[in-house]
Parts: sequence; structure tokens; C-alpha cells
Amino acid sequence: MANGSLTGVLTYLDHAATTPMRPAAVEAMLPFFSERFANPSGSHRFARDARKAIDEARDQVAEIIGVEPGEVVFTGCGTESDNSVVGGVEGVVVCPAVEHHAVLHPVEHQGGVVVGVDAAGHVDLDQLAVALTPDVALVSVMTVNNEVGTITDIAGVSRLVRSLAPQALLHTDAVQAACWLDLRGIAPHVDLMSLSAHKFGGPKGVGVLTIRDGVSLAPLMLGGGQERERRSGTHNVGGIVALAVALAETDAERDESSVRLAGLRDRLVDGLLSRVDGAVETVPRDRKVAGSAHMCFEGIESESLLFLLDEAEVCASAASACASGAMEPSHVLAAMGVSADRAQGALRMTLGHTTTRADVDRAVDVVADSVTQLRRLSFA
Ligand code: PLP
Repeated sequence: MANGSLTGVLTYLDHAATTPMRPAAVEAMLPFFSERFANPSGSHRFARDARKAIDEARDQVAEIIGVEPGEVVFTGCGTESDNSVVGGVEGVVVCPAVEHHAVLHPVEHQGGVVVGVDAAGHVDLDQLAVALTPDVALVSVMTVNNEVGTITDIAGVSRLVRSLAPQALLHTDAVQAACWLDLRGIAPHVDLMSLSAHKFGGPKGVGVLTIRDGVSLAPLMLGGGQERERRSGTHNVGGIVALAVALAETDAERDESSVRLAGLRDRLVDGLLSRVDGAVETVPRDRKVAGSAHMCFEGIESESLLFLLDEAEVCASAASACASGAMEPSHVLAAMGVSADRAQGALRMTLGHTTTRADVDRAVDVVADSVTQLRRLSFA
């Protein structure tokens, strides 16, 4: 890793779980923990200074997403953005089965409709069409899947929703998209979009929800009326400022970084495919984002593999991270029709702005050796 206290120690390939913060984002937030500590909702000049910092961040974020500043709402995380959308509408809610739990669980909780996906994790448009009845209030389809990296054709989904359920709002969870896709190409197709700062080099605990002008959602958080009554709660000023700095850097570097990281991802996956028998790539590379490598290794269990990788200081994951750290069967792989047997040996390696060729080469060696070791053990 290029920064942080674990410099040179860990091979960090878990960027979809969280990215190391960008140094410029850390730098930008520090004054708000010391001399610029004011509450931006106050009426004095000190408060106005904090409010100005938020206004500037909002302008910058809006420009990068391709919406108006008044359409940007700062939230506490991606989960809050997603929950606010699903919980904020009245009527039937619809989403594909591979959504992050921050969308899937509230949709299920509200008795919504969950539609199937194909083998690559794309929402099944025929099933979606059937679900688009006149009582549908919201359709939520993620831009990029957090486990397998599949990119959704949001423009295509939008055309279908607009033609069959023109009354419905369309939301996209773009939390895993910001590093790889120009958000300006996605925003025009949706009414609502969720982002989370810690996935693109900003701090944890701050997110964005864009709400198209004229769209009304019942707010999840009631209280002081911040964010024009759409999200109460004292602003995380430093977090918001850092989010904007991280998003600006991400946006500026995106094209170059995607090419560099696609090359490293290919080196990683090709290296493993050539070194390990019975290794398969879960989703074809032309369907997914540059930083995503997802593979299944026959005859081993992810949990044991992750244990050996951890011992060797390689950080990766199986399904998405969950609060307990426990391994749960992947609802994403199950929805894609991956057999339980194959899914048992799943490994997600995700690359990001600090990933180097040395990281990838080391990961190939460690993963290949660990799989061999596990197979030898199970054979014995
Ligand atoms: N949506 C997706 C696709 C994610 O990958 C994540 C985080 O893993 C979230 C939502 C939740 O974001 P946060 O960690 O900011 O709550």
C-alpha cells in the first residue's frame, strides 16, 4: 500500500469493502476537527464558515455527478441513502436479487418484489417487465455489483421502467460505480442515486443521495430539518468536505486508473487461471468493472482459503463484508445460478487506487500456493 500505517506490510485486495483514504481527503477534513469545528446550522460567522465549506463541497459533488447542487443530499453512509429511498416511498418496491443488503433487506421488509438475474448478474429484463405494474412506486437497480463487479445497463433499465411504469421512481445504488464509471453518464437516467465516500478514498460515515428536483421522499431522519428537510442531523462537515475532495480526485484519475487497474486485474486473474487447475472466473471481464476479480476454486472452501491468505497478509474476501465478519453463503452467486458447491470456493479480490503490480504478483503466488496446500490437506 502506498499510504497508511500498514505500508509495505499488507497486500490489500479488498477495495470494494473499503479503500484507503486519499491523503488530500485526510488533509482537507482535519481543520474541521480543530479550528473550524462550528455547527453549520448556526447563525454566526463561525457557523457560516462551516456552511460555506458544505456549499462548496455540494457544488463540486453535483458537477461530478451531473446533477444540480440542490439535488445533492449528504447522508451518513451508502446504507442510509439506500434505506431512505426504499423507506421513503409508498407503494410497491422492486429490485433484482443481487442488490446489496442495504436495498434488498428493506425491499423484502416492505413486502416488495425481487426479480431474478442472468448468469452474469444482470437483472432479467423480462421478469422486470412483468413486475412493472401500475402500483409500482420504486424500482432500484444497482449500477455495479459489489461482489462480482457486473455493470448494469442503467439506460436500458430506465427505458423499460419509463415505458412500462412511468409513475415509478428509478433509483440506482452507484456505491461501487464511482471509481470506474463516469456518473454523468448514469445520473440522467435515474431519479435517485446513492454513493458512499469510503468506497472512493473518502472517510467512512458519509454518503450522498441525489434526489431529482420535484421528487418527494418521506425523510428517514426527522429533527433539525437540515438538507432542506430531507435529512435531519448535524452535518459531518469534515466528512462532507473530504468526500468532495476524494470524488474530485477519483473523477480526474478515473480513465487512466481504469486502464492501469484493468491491466493489473488481468495479470492477477490470468496468473491464477494458469497456475491453478479448476479455477474459473465468475463473470466475463467485458461485463464488469476494471478493479474486480472474482473467481471460484474447485475443491476448497473460501473460509479456509481466507484464513491462509490472512496468515500471509493478503487481504481479500469471499462474499461482501458483514458486521459479524462471519462467512455467509452469497445471495449474489445463488441468484446467478452458481452451484452451492462452486460458490463454496469463491474469492473476491478487488483492486483500487493504491494497488501495485507487486501486490498482484504476490497475490498470485500466495493464492496459488494456498489453494494447493488446501487441496493437499483435503486429499490427505
Ligand atoms: N451498496 C453497495 C453496493 C455497497 O457495496 C455498500 C458497501 O459495501 C453499501 C451499499 C453500503 O455502504 P456503506 O458502507 O457506506 O453503508
